[in-house]
Amino acid sequence: MDSTETRTLERSTFLTSVGHYFDRAARLTPHPAGLLEQVKCCNAVYRMRFPVKRDDGAIEVVEAFRAEHSHHRTPTKGGIRFSLDVTQDEVIALAGLMTYKCAIVGVPFGGAKRGVRVDSHAISDGFRERLVRRYTTELYKKNFIGPAVDVPAPDYGTGEREMAWIADTYTTLAQNELHPYACVTGKPLSLHGIPGRREATGLGVYYGIRECLANADDLQPLGLTTGIAGKRVIIQGLGNVGYHAAKFLQQEGGAVITAIAEKEGGIFRATGLDVEAVAQHLRANKSILNFPGAQNIATPGEVLELDCDILVPAALENQITADNAPRIRARIVAEAANGPVTAEADDILRQRGILVIPDIYLNAGGVTVSYFEWLKNLSHVSFGRMSSKHEALNNRHLLDAVEKLTGRTVEDAGRQLILKGPQELDYVQAALADTMANSYNWIREAWKSRGIADLRTTAFYLAIDRIARSYLALGIFP
Ligand code: NAD
Repeated sequence: MDSTETRTLERSTFLTSVGHYFDRAARLTPHPAGLLEQVKCCNAVYRMRFPVKRDDGAIEVVEAFRAEHSHHRTPTKGGIRFSLDVTQDEVIALAGLMTYKCAIVGVPFGGAKRGVRVDSHAISDGFRERLVRRYTTELYKKNFIGPAVDVPAPDYGTGEREMAWIADTYTTLAQNELHPYACVTGKPLSLHGIPGRREATGLGVYYGIRECLANADDLQPLGLTTGIAGKRVIIQGLGNVGYHAAKFLQQEGGAVITAIAEKEGGIFRATGLDVEAVAQHLRANKSILNFPGAQNIATPGEVLELDCDILVPAALENQITADNAPRIRARIVAEAANGPVTAEADDILRQRGILVIPDIYLNAGGVTVSYFEWLKNLSHVSFGRMSSKHEALNNRHLLDAVEKLTGRTVEDAGRQLILKGPQELDYVQAALADTMANSYNWIREAWKSRGIADLRTTAFYLAIDRIARSYLALGIFP
C-alpha cells in the first residue's frame, strides 16, 4: 500500500469512527430512522481543483474540498485545514463533528469544514496568499462562502493571516454586501477580529478540564483528587490549540506539564516544562528537541504512552488507536484535537477505566468565540462599547453607597478593580467560561441521570436529539 492509500484508509477510519459514535448514541434517542439519517448525512461536498502559480512561475494544481454537513441552522461553520493528508472523507468527518459541537455549546450554526491538500510548512508566503485568494474565489463562484451561507475559520495549518486574505478577497468580490467581514472568523484584530479568538480553543480546553476536575465523585474511581493544580499533564502538538491549552493549564491551573510531543519527537521533564520557554525554543530551532534540562524522546508516539494524569492530544485525528490504547497510562484523555481517539481505541480506554473528555465538547471554545466575532461583525460594534462605561458608573454608585452605609472605604487596588469597566476581552472570556461550564454540566447531568456509558456517547446523544428536534420543527420544503 502506498502512502496515499494509507492516508485515505486512515481518514476513512476517522469517518467510520464518527459514524460509529453517532450510531451508538442515536440508538438511545426516540427518533425514527429517516430523521436520524437526515441528521447524520453530510448534505453537500464540493471538490475542486484549481491552478496556483509557484514563485518560479510554474503552475501547480491544488486539490481542495468543502463539506457542509448540516443546514438545520445557517450559516454553516467550520475551519480550513491545510495539510497534505487532507481527503474528502476527513473533511466530511470534521464537518460532522462541527455540527454536533455547535449543538453541544448552543451556537446557532450548521457544521462545515474545508481542506486544502498542501503542505502548510513547505509553501512560501507568496504561494500561500495566491492559493488562499484563488480558493476563496472558487468558493465565492459556487456560493460556498458568505456571512449567511458558510463561514470558515482557522484550523490545522491556517491562522489569522489566511483569514485576513479570505476577508479581503470576499470583500472585493461582494461589493454590495452589508456585512462582508462576517464571511470568515479568526481574523486579526486589525481586520474586525475579536480579542480572545486566537487562544479561544485552548482556553476552552482549560475551562473544560477544570470543570471535569471539579467533580470528586467522577475522579475518585480514577484515583484523582479535584483541581488542576499539581496534575501531571502531557500535550501532543504545540500549535495553536496545544500551546494555549498548555499555557492556561500551567499558568492559570497550576498543572505540571511533564512532556510535550511535536512531529519530530518529544521532550520530558518530571518536574515540569516551562511552556512559554518551550514555545520560544520551538520557534527559534524549528524543533522541540534538545530543550535545555529536558530529556529527548525519539518519537511523538512514545510520548503518548508516558505515565501522567491528563493526556491532551492537540494535533490530529487517529493518534490513539487499538494498537497503542492498551499502553496509554493517563487517567484522563482530554481531546483537544478533533478525532484523536479511534472508535476501537475508545472502547479499550473505557474498558480500562480511562475517562475521555470528548472533542465535540472540549474543543468547542473556538467556534464559540467565532460566533461572538460573527455577531460583532453583523452588528458593526465592539462588545462593551455601549455598556462598559455604564457598568463602571453603576459600580461607582454602588461602591459610594456601600462606603456611606458602612462608614468604611475599600482599599485602592480593590477600588480600581471594581471601578474599571469591562473590556471586550472580559466579555468574551466570561461568556466562553460560562458556555464551557454550562455545557459540561449539561452533558454530565445527562450522563449520570440516564446511566449512559460515557461522556462522548452522552454528548452525541444530546447533540443528535437537539438537531433532530430542529429538523422536525423546520419540516421539509418543498
Ligand atoms: P496547528 O497547525 O496550529 O498545530 C498543530 C500542531 O501539531 C503543529 O505544531 C504540528 O507540528 C503538530 N503535529 C502534527 N503532527 C504531530 C504528531 N504526530 N505529533 C505531535 N505533534 C504533531 O493546528 P491547531 O489549530 O492547533 O489544530 C490542532 C487540532 O485542534 C486539530 O485537530 C484541529 O482540527 C483542532 N481544532 C482546532 C481549532 C482551532 O481553533 N484552531 C478549533 C477546534 C479544533
